[in-house]
Amino acid sequence: MAVSGKPPYDSANIFAKILRNEIPCEKIYENDFALAFYDIRPQAPSHALVIPKGEYVSFADFGASAPAELIVGFYRAVAHVAKEMGLEETGYRLISNMGWDSHQEVPHYHIHILGGRKLGTMLAAAG
Ligand code: AMP
Repeated sequence: MAVSGKPPYDSANIFAKILRNEIPCEKIYENDFALAFYDIRPQAPSHALVIPKGEYVSFADFGASAPAELIVGFYRAVAHVAKEMGLEETGYRLISNMGWDSHQEVPHYHIHILGGRKLGTMLAAAG
């Protein structure tokens, strides 16, 4: 089910539960700013999710409200994870869905890292 991407933050969302260690994830990396884990329904040979440690609903909310230190730390973590996944030579795609039209499903800001094969054109033609 898609979400609006706008606050208020719902602390019952699945990524909040992962951050609180209430449900497991296949962890790739963690530091003070971010947690990275494998997507449960991978759409490429390598498909990770990176989430910030903080209550932000979407890219819009994170960009508007997060402290600068967290924003910098989070994006450095995303780049670090992509490199650790071995994707820097062949390349990768970052996706962040925000709101209804993007079909954002989880209302905790996250970046998808996708790679491991040629990903084709940026968007599917329709559908
Ligand atoms: P989005 O549509 O951008 O909100 O994407 C949410 C992503 O979270 C989807 O690719 C799901 O496969 C993924 N996902 C949902 N639940 C879990 C989970 N428990 N562990 C890992 N990935 C998940």
